[in-house]
Amino acid sequence: MRIREHKKPFGFEKPSRPHGKIIIIDERCKGCGFCVEYCPQDVLELSERFNKKGYHPPEAVNDHACVNCGFCRMICPEFAIYTVEDEPVIG
Ligand code: SF4
Ligand code: SF4
Repeated sequence: MRIREHKKPFGFEKPSRPHGKIIIIDERCKGCGFCVEYCPQDVLELSERFNKKGYHPPEAVNDHACVNCGFCRMICPEFAIYTVEDEPVIG
């Protein structure tokens, strides 16, 4: 019997999506907020705490949503944030 195209997805495993572990080097941060503003997943916010230079470094408020795209690392002018690959999230 012929299987129709629209029936194919049923019974297949859901694809996994990448997940990143976020590393923030507080003392390098100048609190510019670029990483917060441009993260496509809204993972970051500027924290209430101060670093030694008197700036507010970011913190991950939604870290399960990080897809390890690396954009925060690319956009940070101080090399203060990066991600490493973590276990992928299923579904
Ligand atoms: S790697 Fe991408 S999704 Fe994760 S915190 Fe950075 S910009 Fe956001
Ligand atoms: S982009 Fe870099 S310097 Fe700017 S707030 Fe984020 S971590 Fe700090």
